[in-house]
Amino acid sequence: MLFDTHVHLNVKQFDQDRRQVIERAKEAGVENMVVVGFDHETIPKAIALAEQFDFIYAAVGWHPVDAIDFTSQELDWLEELSKHSKVVALGEMGLDYHWDKSPKDVQKDVFRTQIRLAKKLNMPIIIHNREATEDIIEILQDEDAKTVGGIMHCYNDSPDYIQACLEMNFYLSLGGPVTFKNAPLPKEVAKRVPLDRLLIETDCPFLAPHPNRGKRNEPAYVRLVAEQIAELRGLSLEEVAKATTDNAHRVFNLSI
Ligand SMILES: [Zn+2]
Ligand SMILES: [Zn+2]
Repeated sequence: MLFDTHVHLNVKQFDQDRRQVIERAKEAGVENMVVVGFDHETIPKAIALAEQFDFIYAAVGWHPVDAIDFTSQELDWLEELSKHSKVVALGEMGLDYHWDKSPKDVQKDVFRTQIRLAKKLNMPIIIHNREATEDIIEILQDEDAKTVGGIMHCYNDSPDYIQACLEMNFYLSLGGPVTFKNAPLPKEVAKRVPLDRLLIETDCPFLAPHPNRGKRNEPAYVRLVAEQIAELRGLSLEEVAKATTDNAHRVFNLSI
């Protein structure tokens, strides 16, 4: 009854034991997950996993760190892949100001181009945001992204921006950092986002929740994220699981 909305089972960190990782997820109550592809290598692998397992869906997009490599060829490719029946969102896309491989202006252009594609295809968007919340909100507003909406994945900034995200029909997704002892922002966000706009994710293999922090993350650990949110909101795990799973079905347009 848990829905991990953002996993990277398509990366090499899972090459040795992918099947066991998926089995552990099922045992932990993870009913569905979305494997997110973000470059030439990981996008076909996301789709292959979605074809192999009926409970896995895929998202395809171009990561802002690699924006410098994005051409009209990649754009056409994403459009073609988006027609696959298991592709439920476009992304991850967005802005990442932590790394400087791609200049900010290039990142913004590639972000806008992908938002326009999502609007053309009427698909929700998955946003990757690192140290760029204000620019992301400005671009989403400017491109009128609220007609498709989507997910602020692994949201890790001030609760002050929640309202702007909600007004643009975005859901806020929380991952491992909400369990970190020295992370007041995601804890505050977990308390303040309306329950019908909250999602959970692992972003595995990155950002493993406490007490596994620093180790390889995996979808089974999304339960730790849900438990932390339940504790912060004074709800049961079942209530958080049901709400976030319903929300995931809604944002990805999946029938239950
Ligand atoms: Zn990301
Ligand atoms: Zn990711």
